[in-house]
Amino acid sequence: MCGLPLGDEPVWRVVDHENAELVAAALTAGTSLINEAPAFEGPAHRACALYSAAVCPYLAGPTARRSQAVSIPNLVIIDKGEARGPAGAVVAFDGCRAELAHGKLAFFYGQPVDMIEYQRGDDLLDSLAAAVRGEPDDLPRAPAWLRDDEGAAQQAFEAEVQKITRQAKPR
Ligand SMILES: [Zn+2]
Repeated sequence: MCGLPLGDEPVWRVVDHENAELVAAALTAGTSLINEAPAFEGPAHRACALYSAAVCPYLAGPTARRSQAVSIPNLVIIDKGEARGPAGAVVAFDGCRAELAHGKLAFFYGQPVDMIEYQRGDDLLDSLAAAVRGEPDDLPRAPAWLRDDEGAAQQAFEAEVQKITRQAKPR
């Protein structure tokens, strides 16, 4: 969201109702929950994930539906029109790795370690305000490629994809 490095802390992601129930059950029971299916959404800072959940039309409402389908052949398909469900959650994971699958960027998350359940984006505004207040005063500015230069954004994306491709180990 902000373009700044994630560091060593848990990474955050907003999940739909179905995933929120799985994560809640695992956290309550203290069991392992490693989702083998990739996500299309990359990892975020806590404040950035709270912001996404609060403002994204799909993530912020119980009756919201996806405006676009997303798919990676043989791995995951999410249909256009799929509902987020009655409640969502902002979830912390102990890690995340990115891979290219059929030419698309796919994210594999680790074990969930914390979650904030919500129904409407507005439910998160107090948590979001507190998270923003808790950020250091000397936080760096967002990188230039995150502003209004689409060419720079595309270059930054392609550089990241190159890094992932170089890191990929042969199977
Ligand atoms: Zn961020």
